[in-house]
Amino acid sequence: MPSKTTAKKAKKTAGKRASKAIKYVYSFGKKTDGNAKMKELLGGKGANLAEMAAIGLPVPGGFTITTEVCTAYYDNGRKYPAELKGQVENAIKIVERESGKKFGDPKNPLLFSVRSGARESMPGMMDTILNLGLNDKTVAGLAKLTDNGRFAYDCYRRFIQMYGDVVMGVQSRNEFEPEPFEHVLEGVKKEVGVEIDSDLTEENNKEVIRRFQKLIKDRTGGEFPQDVHKQLDGAVGAVFNSWQNERAILYRQKYGIPAEWGTAVNVQLMVFGNLGETSGTGVAFTRDPANGENVFYGEYLINAQGEDVVAGVRTPHPIAQLEQDMPKSFKELCAVRTKLEKHFGDVQDFEFTIEDGTLYMLQTRNGKRTGLAAVRIAVEMTKQRLMNQKTAVTKIPADQISSLLVPIFDTASIKKATLMATGLPAGPGAASGKIVFNASDAEKEVAKGNSVVLCREETSPEDLRGMIASDGILTSRGGVSSHAALVARQMGKVCICGASDIDINYTNRTLSAGKTVLDEGDYISIDGTTGQIFAGHVATAPSEVSQVLAGKMKAEKSYTYQLFDQVMKWADKYRKMGVRTNADSPTQSKAAIALGAEGIGLCRTEHMFFEGDRITYMREMILASDESARKKALKKLLPFQRKDFSGLFKAMDGRPVTIRLLDPPLHEFLPHDDEARRSLADHLGVSVDAVTERVHALHEENPMLGHRGCRLGISYPEITEMQARAIFEAAAQVLKLKKKVKVNPEIMIPLVGFQDELDNQVGIVHRVAKEVQKDKGVKINYLVGTMIEVPRAAVTAAEIAKTAQFFSFGTNDLTQTTLGMSRDDAGSFLGKYKDLDILPQNPFATIDQAGVGALVQLGVDGGKSTNPNIKLGICGEHGGDPQSVKFCHRAGLTYVSCSPNRVPVARLAAAQAAIEAGA
Ligand code: PEP
Ligand code: MG
Repeated sequence: MPSKTTAKKAKKTAGKRASKAIKYVYSFGKKTDGNAKMKELLGGKGANLAEMAAIGLPVPGGFTITTEVCTAYYDNGRKYPAELKGQVENAIKIVERESGKKFGDPKNPLLFSVRSGARESMPGMMDTILNLGLNDKTVAGLAKLTDNGRFAYDCYRRFIQMYGDVVMGVQSRNEFEPEPFEHVLEGVKKEVGVEIDSDLTEENNKEVIRRFQKLIKDRTGGEFPQDVHKQLDGAVGAVFNSWQNERAILYRQKYGIPAEWGTAVNVQLMVFGNLGETSGTGVAFTRDPANGENVFYGEYLINAQGEDVVAGVRTPHPIAQLEQDMPKSFKELCAVRTKLEKHFGDVQDFEFTIEDGTLYMLQTRNGKRTGLAAVRIAVEMTKQRLMNQKTAVTKIPADQISSLLVPIFDTASIKKATLMATGLPAGPGAASGKIVFNASDAEKEVAKGNSVVLCREETSPEDLRGMIASDGILTSRGGVSSHAALVARQMGKVCICGASDIDINYTNRTLSAGKTVLDEGDYISIDGTTGQIFAGHVATAPSEVSQVLAGKMKAEKSYTYQLFDQVMKWADKYRKMGVRTNADSPTQSKAAIALGAEGIGLCRTEHMFFEGDRITYMREMILASDESARKKALKKLLPFQRKDFSGLFKAMDGRPVTIRLLDPPLHEFLPHDDEARRSLADHLGVSVDAVTERVHALHEENPMLGHRGCRLGISYPEITEMQARAIFEAAAQVLKLKKKVKVNPEIMIPLVGFQDELDNQVGIVHRVAKEVQKDKGVKINYLVGTMIEVPRAAVTAAEIAKTAQFFSFGTNDLTQTTLGMSRDDAGSFLGKYKDLDILPQNPFATIDQAGVGALVQLGVDGGKSTNPNIKLGICGEHGGDPQSVKFCHRAGLTYVSCSPNRVPVARLAAAQAAIEAGA
């Protein structure tokens, strides 16, 4: 039995432990616990509210329930940690003390907003509840207190609607049923002859409330809760639950946000923008998020609450107009704009409310922006010393640099096009496609191979799948911060919103403007840079950047080009890896050089065998019955190959050119229809049956793992010999040109798994090199290396590197062979794998770091262990994917190689990788 003193001690220690218990609730306001660095714990919104409060911006008080609670909630069968209740009660008391109001007090009620807030913002994906704390009694108190019954009942109506929808689940039961609360509201508005919600009188609102409460009872069998604490519990639970709703899950998959991050919940004192004509609410960006221009940008509504601005029900006014409407608040807001950019060092997207002339800040976060805006903002903020170069480089999502290269409408075609209407430009670029009116039709049409423009009055998170599928998005309602605009901007989609001259009729399935009426399935073309909408199909043309690069426009004439050029210069300054391109022709190579490629990382020689007569000679070679017949055919191919290679060497002007020897199974080159077989038989002077027989003989059950890659060169060394000869003779030819051009061929052997395979092929290459150099009297600098694209090669890289002068990771095949998933057939099941989070990202697009990546690392380490100077590259599709490029940097590769258009993306991603690694 413990003595009295030990018991006392134990109690004291327990007390101490309790006081050290995990902190689940962080206050902000006059007393602020958190700061901007605590995004993991407090979510983006919570951390920034704390930061704004701390730097003296007017933030209504409140508290944040941490993301740890969300994680614990899901880990423990949707139960909260025991300590939470007490901590929330304390936090409510602090808000009560600071505000002088009381939660649930009919005389002086304290009302809360309850909002989600993940580490990275997920606009519109989770739930929000405003005006919480109102019930049949407190509403009367609020009416009395503000001497404004219309306002109080307006708030209560909004609250019941949100709570009924989000917490009590009263929603449309199928896609044809209207949103039930909106339906009731519209009914009353019609009955009393009112167009906009804010024109409803106190009595009108009371009627709506009665009908809302009845609707809830009819649908759920329960009452709308009158107990304010119960309301808060329900709202917090709903926000946590919304972390796992379908649209949030989809959003996380698209943007690679892990489910285990969880969301925080922010409970904040309500301030009212709907208190009358001296109140209002708005959203603003410190710069234009569509094009990056340094102008104050945003919109607001007088006498409204926040969701009215984003919901697109009333069309908001541009922020500049606030200068006339509320000069004092506008001035304060301008000061806030400057302070925010200076403090956060980036463009901010913020929400504010003006309650009876007093400005309040409700949120700030780094503003989502289009690719073009990201570039302009990074360059201009660096010039203004609000950002430094390294930050500027990391602030531009690497993928988005390609939006500066997106097509614009072709000038000749646009002149002939019929302008239907104009809307707000919300996502730059040009898109032309068939009209669809809902998300599922968008997906269906795209699956058929059509381009579509999703046309909706306004979009909601339910439309996300359709928005992902569409080339462009057009809405007839809502402002530049509507759901459509925010999501499109983030996805880099062409978007026009708030095109109020357009009438969309879902029932008739028509879209019209004035006399022009378009039906579902007709073509429409939208310019998300200017906001113009055209009836019919309009051809697109290269962007300004592409035109400057192609020498068709002067650099001085294009500010966009100058911005692009600046960012690329910075990227080149910081990146450590080289960037090459996958190209098979001089035209492709020149385009890639213009975009910054430093060499060719993969020339697939098989692509050269399909043009003109070559395919016939190729087929002659494949159908040859013996070596001498094969050599005869190869001799005919040699001049073509030589010409191709000399073209490439000239275009690349001394840059390294990696040429891969023949890789695909031979039957890919053979004719598959009767007509083609007959004409080949005629050409060769053999019977059609002989051709057919040979085609059958070459058929393989599993060609990807069959007679391909170096296996071809081993079976038919004369093929390797011909290709090597063509390369070296072309090199000799170019070296002897009057105008000196350097040549650096790197000959690459495909699909090697054994050092002996490589030795076999390298032997041929070196012998031919010697012969040609002696014959032509030139010295050619060349390397011979291999692709690493089967697991055995990665595992035995140390051996292989004794022969190979370079490795290039062929991650298309390496993914296929490592995962045992066919690169051509995986599409049929990868969707399901993504939905189930088994493979959140397509492994053929973004490298599977844990599996394929581990083999790459093994290959790198093995290769370096026996050949410290080995050159290491990647030439699979992953070479142009930002996440994979960053992986390549960490793995220690020398360069990445990607398709010409991805070269700027790879340059930027490589720089970001270097900066993230502490360059
Ligand atoms: C690869 O396998 O990654 C590769 C680049 O080669 P190919 O795509 O031609 O098979
Ligand atoms: Mg391959």
